Amino acid sequence: MPPPKKAVAEMEQYTAPTEGRRGKLRLDFNENTLGCSQKVVDALRKVTADDVSVYPAYGEFLGELARYLDVDASEVLLTNGSDEGIKAVMDAYIEQGDEVVLPVPTFAMFKAYASIAGAKINEIKYNSDLSFPLKQLLAAISGKTKLVILVNPNNPTGTAINECDIVRILKKAKDSIVLIDEAYWQYFGKSCKGLIKKYDNLIVLQTFSKAFGLAGLRLGYAISNQGTISLLQKVISPYSVNSLALIAGKAALQDLDFVNSYVAEVKESKAYVERELQRLGIKTYPSKANFVLANFGNKCVLVCRKLKAKKILVRSRANYPLSEGCVRVGIGTRQQSFRLVQELKAILRRNVILFDLDGVLVDVSNSYRLAIKKTAEFFTKQTARLQDIQSLKERRGYNNDWDLTLALIAAKGFKIRRKDVIRKFQEFYLGCNGQNGFIGNEKWMLSPKILSELYKKYRLGIVTGRPKKEAYTVLKKFNMLDFFDCVVTMADYKEKLAKPNPFSINLALKQLGSRQAVYVGDSVDDIKAARNAKIESIGVLPPYVSSDSLKQLLTENGAKTVLNDVNKLGRVLK
Ligand SMILES: *Cc1c(COP(=O)(O)O)cnc(C)c1O
Repeated sequence: MPPPKKAVAEMEQYTAPTEGRRGKLRLDFNENTLGCSQKVVDALRKVTADDVSVYPAYGEFLGELARYLDVDASEVLLTNGSDEGIKAVMDAYIEQGDEVVLPVPTFAMFKAYASIAGAKINEIKYNSDLSFPLKQLLAAISGKTKLVILVNPNNPTGTAINECDIVRILKKAKDSIVLIDEAYWQYFGKSCKGLIKKYDNLIVLQTFSKAFGLAGLRLGYAISNQGTISLLQKVISPYSVNSLALIAGKAALQDLDFVNSYVAEVKESKAYVERELQRLGIKTYPSKANFVLANFGNKCVLVCRKLKAKKILVRSRANYPLSEGCVRVGIGTRQQSFRLVQELKAILRRNVILFDLDGVLVDVSNSYRLAIKKTAEFFTKQTARLQDIQSLKERRGYNNDWDLTLALIAAKGFKIRRKDVIRKFQEFYLGCNGQNGFIGNEKWMLSPKILSELYKKYRLGIVTGRPKKEAYTVLKKFNMLDFFDCVVTMADYKEKLAKPNPFSINLALKQLGSRQAVYVGDSVDDIKAARNAKIESIGVLPPYVSSDSLKQLLTENGAKTVLNDVNKLGRVLK
């Protein structure tokens, strides 16, 4: 048996990991995660024997595609995916030993086909921030350069090249071919196909595989001047694009709304994923495509494996130059991205911190406490001291401040109906028509900076006895809602299940899918609830408490430690 070509023998085996991807959220190959236009599926359903028994005829579709691209039909060549276009360029231009300039890291097929053709590949590294290495590239182009390859935007970095830089390259490489792969041009929003009129050394490749969602049909095309297109035509097989691809491509061009609205959604969804990754302390690189390169460092392997277990596929690029520790994360719809982010949060942060709201995160001395005082004074016409309120709170657990107020009034010998107490209390707390209530006096206590740091390492949640609306109002008012992956309020459990019953804490842990947690609270009931839920707790003294008795009580009931300022939490948890 004769040996194969030397270049082929030396090539590494490449088997695309495309098996077993059905039914999963496929963020690994940059395809359209919604599939394709329904019009494409409908058109394929109507396929007849005539459509498949006859060799394909390209004229009609070529005309429609040229119209879509705003070029002449003689300036377009259909290929079996862009892959065949890449190979055709190598076959048409590269002789043994010819120089190909290739910025890396990039799509693998350039190197593969250039090697088979016997090219000498001059790899130019992207800058360390993954920006386009224009200077180095221009410097690398010489009289010996046969082909310059640009991918715009690039895969896997997402880097875009602007048009004036492309023009500089086209001019510098006037005696070479410049191949620009625009597989993701829709997401970037710009194509340089118009430059073929002015620069006869330019070949642009585009594909139906990505935004159009037709990867399985293998339909791509090259755009260049008529002479170059005729030349490329010679080296590809005459029927490389099949009839079903033509039928699908035609239908796809008739439903551009599908692509446009998908692209718009992906852009929005990408901004969301980037923002969420940044909040988790994960670095991403600016991307103009439908994927982002995210640096998970030494958690890279773990992230890929855990996501896969959750049926989300992403692509590790950890072994590529300049992208050590990086995963290429495809961007899908808003909903798909939400699911991705939820899973990433769960993977990156196993441990949970649950917070009580009042007295821990929010200073309520001039709101709830004041409402207790004023309500009691209203009904008893006697002064209610804050210290008495606190000792009542410490001595006996009250599910909420209404019951505490009721007890305070009862202790003075007055019998008032609970619902009247509640009404007066709410009037003081919320004010009239949402104005001048004590709620306006509330202050947020845990610094956003510490909270952002905790957010990177822990899943944060709130377990409070507040009514739902009042809990969300304060979280939104201070712009803190985003930090908390779950918020359990009075609305989520029956009154008899309130703390110290572990129900509300257990509910939060169930929602977060973890039991490695600590509860931060300021009352004996908080600490007891944590103990009943079999998790650790940390006590915090609210700002209005001066006595040592609470500290002692919290410790006696099982608080691991008691802080006099919630902002010391960062240090304790390290
Ligand atoms: C996905 C991809 C292609 C492959 O396109 P096909 O048309 O499916 O062959 C080409 N170039 C780049 C940069 C890609 O990422």
